[in-house]
Amino acid sequence: MSSDRDALRQYLEFYRDLGFDTLYRRQPAAVQASEPQPVIIPEAAVKKTTPPPPPTPALHIPEPESLIALPSLEPEGDTLDKIRADIGDCKRCRLCEGRNKIVFGSGDVNTKLVFVGEGPGADEDAQGFPFVGRAGQLLTQMIEGTSSKEGIPIQRADVYICNVVKCRPPENRTPLPDEMEICGQFLFRQLMVIKPRAICALGSTAAKAVLGTKEGVTRLRGNWQKWRDIPVMVTYHPSYLLRPYNQNAKREAWEDLKKVLHFVYD
Ligand code: URA
Repeated sequence: MSSDRDALRQYLEFYRDLGFDTLYRRQPAAVQASEPQPVIIPEAAVKKTTPPPPPTPALHIPEPESLIALPSLEPEGDTLDKIRADIGDCKRCRLCEGRNKIVFGSGDVNTKLVFVGEGPGADEDAQGFPFVGRAGQLLTQMIEGTSSKEGIPIQRADVYICNVVKCRPPENRTPLPDEMEICGQFLFRQLMVIKPRAICALGSTAAKAVLGTKEGVTRLRGNWQKWRDIPVMVTYHPSYLLRPYNQNAKREAWEDLKKVLHFVYD
């Protein structure tokens, strides 16, 4: 039981460190701690010479499994196909109401590098693939342009790309904390299955989801962070780089990407 407890504690601490303060149960059945029961001491066991100890309430500690059925962070034998199957025709949050397609992720599952974006936009929602719109074209250019300049032989198809939320938020708004939390479990499973050498978090939503930090991109970018044992580089989201007057940010994003590509592929 104590190893179950340790595992549960580690699990909860892990989510707390990521900034989550609410976890959703798979089943609504919560078990209430039962009323404290008095300890019944058999008469024969009580020596007549010593006064009987006052009855103490027995401490009832429910088994972890009976308290909450948390989804396993790293189910045994997990695969991307299983994760996609678990997502199914997802109705776990309100984002399902406006979506056309669930955008799971795409690229090489055996990659050493994963890019994490925020959530699908209109093009991604229509096609079912991440980063296929304007921001996606810029991301492709950034990956392929930088790697070719740096003499690193990789294409976009050699990395894996996914998002924090798998359904398009209405009007492309930023995903809400509960949406990120619900969908985050699938992102974390994807990262665990792929186990890349590095993760590149695109923009503040991805940084928040992966690192559980409230720090903005400007402060985080350029320096390695960690998700579990995996180095994480935060950089600007390509949509931000598409806005005019962001020359400085563009230069910085290219610097970040160079750092990532050399770290992963040298
Ligand atoms: N922006 C994202 O964050 N993800 C996409 O897939 C497309 C645009």
